[in-house]
Amino acid sequence: MHAAHNGWGMVLGAGCPRCASPVSEDAGTWRCLDHGPITPLWRPADAGYGTFAEHLTRAGAMPTLLPWPLPPSWAVTDFGAVAQEGRDARASFATVSGPTDLDGVVEVTVVTEEPGVGLGSRCAGLTRTDPGAEIGEGPPHAKVRLGGHQPVPLWSVLTSGADATFDRSVFAGEATGRWLWLVLRPASAALLLKDEWMLMNVADLGPELIDLPFGGSPPAW
Ligand SMILES: [Zn+2]
Repeated sequence: MHAAHNGWGMVLGAGCPRCASPVSEDAGTWRCLDHGPITPLWRPADAGYGTFAEHLTRAGAMPTLLPWPLPPSWAVTDFGAVAQEGRDARASFATVSGPTDLDGVVEVTVVTEEPGVGLGSRCAGLTRTDPGAEIGEGPPHAKVRLGGHQPVPLWSVLTSGADATFDRSVFAGEATGRWLWLVLRPASAALLLKDEWMLMNVADLGPELIDLPFGGSPPAW
């Protein structure tokens, strides 16, 4: 196989960042059936420590952010990086899921991406590539902390134009020149964000990484 000689694609599978259509590779260029030439999204068949270590290598300088600390019984269900071989990733995401008192099982996906990638939109179920004009309009609806830095303001992104399922709440903002997206399912889980969350770059975890819990169903998108 094309990827076997260099290690890429052995542990993580390639897909389109913007849709679920099949992708193919020819002489190092990846194409989506619908979107043409793409930088592929690399995602594991099974989320686990081994595939996550491979993911962190692929993400390079692009942070992979998780709500931190993870509540008891929460686990990482999925992750991925949008990356070309030999370059830092253009986007990354991680999904965690677990029980809450208010909403039963909640799923949270955190996406970090350069403008124009479209991974956050896909996860949010939107058809456009980047968050809309609501970002920066009026007071923010939530704030998250990235490590010890200033809080990052987030605005609610309306998804009702895309479909009528209302199964999720989407927030987005901008941090260090990248889009930061939070997608919560069910939609009512947005209330959990009234407490200011801390997001941790998993690449900074060090030895604690070995204790990161994996498992559960990956997100449906
Ligand atoms: Zn596509």
